[in-house]
Amino acid sequence: MPTDRVQLYDTTLRDGSQMEGISLSVEDKIRITRKLDELGLEWIEGGFPGSNPKDAEYFRRLRTVELKNARVAAFGGTRKPGSTCETDANIQSLVAAETPGVTLVGKSSIYQVREILETSAEENLEMIADTVGYFKKLGKTVFFDAEHFFDGFMLDPDYTLQCIATAARAGADALVLCDTNGGMTTRAMLAAIGKAQERVPDVRLGIHCHNDAGLAVANSMAAVEAGVWQVQGCVNGYGERCGNTDILTMVANLKIKMGLDVIEDEQLARLTEVSNYVSELANMVPNAGAPYVGASAFAHKAGYHVAGIMKDEKAYQHIDPLIVGNTSRVLVSELSGQRNLLMKLQELEIDYPLSQDEIRALLEVVKEKESQGFQYEGAEASFALLVRRSLPGYRAPWELEDFVIVERRRRSMLGETVNEMLAEAMVKIVIDGQLQHTAHEGNGPVNALDGAVRKALVQVYPQLENVKLVDYKVRILDSQAATGAKTRVLIESTNGSSYWTTVGSSTDIIEASWLALADALEFALTAG
Ligand SMILES: [Zn+2]
Repeated sequence: MPTDRVQLYDTTLRDGSQMEGISLSVEDKIRITRKLDELGLEWIEGGFPGSNPKDAEYFRRLRTVELKNARVAAFGGTRKPGSTCETDANIQSLVAAETPGVTLVGKSSIYQVREILETSAEENLEMIADTVGYFKKLGKTVFFDAEHFFDGFMLDPDYTLQCIATAARAGADALVLCDTNGGMTTRAMLAAIGKAQERVPDVRLGIHCHNDAGLAVANSMAAVEAGVWQVQGCVNGYGERCGNTDILTMVANLKIKMGLDVIEDEQLARLTEVSNYVSELANMVPNAGAPYVGASAFAHKAGYHVAGIMKDEKAYQHIDPLIVGNTSRVLVSELSGQRNLLMKLQELEIDYPLSQDEIRALLEVVKEKESQGFQYEGAEASFALLVRRSLPGYRAPWELEDFVIVERRRRSMLGETVNEMLAEAMVKIVIDGQLQHTAHEGNGPVNALDGAVRKALVQVYPQLENVKLVDYKVRILDSQAATGAKTRVLIESTNGSSYWTTVGSSTDIIEASWLALADALEFALTAG
């Protein structure tokens, strides 16, 4: 059972989806809801049915979804000035969502009431009282999100406190204090929380922070320490501008650092998985530096640290990464010595007995490659191949004989203006002693090359049908050399169940891409 001391409230599907670059389908939202339910969160804010039809559709679909832990809230504003709840379309869309909870955002800053809402102080209080009361009569759990609470408090504390006291009298189950602009410092925030606690001692408080000052998690932690009950946040800290409180960091902090059993240990062990799952569906590149769940969160680089880690894992990490489902990772780089390399081999489960000389030789190869612009820290599949290729008896699944790429730009076709680029690749590769010759057209040279190579390979290795490239990154290494600069290409691939990254480097972007692509396909055939 979760503790009653703190309640976790996720708003990834509403506030988090405001982030630039995120667009979630109804199906994505349902899948994320299930995942957050498995994680053990108590409330999930599903969306804003009054603002978009997709969210209304989500609430319809949700009725057939069974959740084990979480309840879902629909989000909307207080009724419009000078109207009634019964006639307000947004209020009625919240009713139609048929959720056990509603979260009502209301103005709690006199400046916002007068300048943005353009109504009177009294009417805003009426709107709060009416709307909260309306949903309480319908038997819902009602959370009142006091928008701009802290900014309003600085301006006119009496009015701001009156807003939350009004929601409390109307029966709100919790009063959520929002740092809507995300600019509060911790001390000023705590002072305002103290006044809110004095004014409404009998109603639970919540905290909703934005990260514009980089303090969202720190402020939310401080609020909980000050006695605040509900914590709102988003997976991976998603949210508009600089994001919201990262609810996954909060979960880990509350449980590990504060000893509050907000979720079970087994659920905590899935934290990293949940983070990756949501970034996948949101189509966001995972933040390697994210606390607890990032790929770099327990990665060790300098040779000196690694020597310490070899002696005792606790020496240079604040927790055991397994608690949150993450793993220690040793970065191979020119800084590191033989010990790093050995640990890396262990991690990749390459347990061939390498002699001292072989290890030294391998390290030389890594250093040589790194000086050419390869980088294995983000490209473990290429590293694994580098090691395998150095082992006696390794046979590559195919060899490239030759490729030709033709690029053409044409202005018109059959009298019509098209202004299009065409790329065609012709490839000769040897598989099992057989020379295969294929050609493929693509929307660019790498795409065409990829198509041509696969065409040859899938005849012998049908499992490559499932392998997709999911990300392609190009970095210019010495940009002062301008068009003569070295290029590093990173390619991320998946077969649907696992992901791997490969690297290529060259002054020729096609060659760099080819090297990364060839590794990606070779890894798919030789891994596991
Ligand atoms: Zn917000």
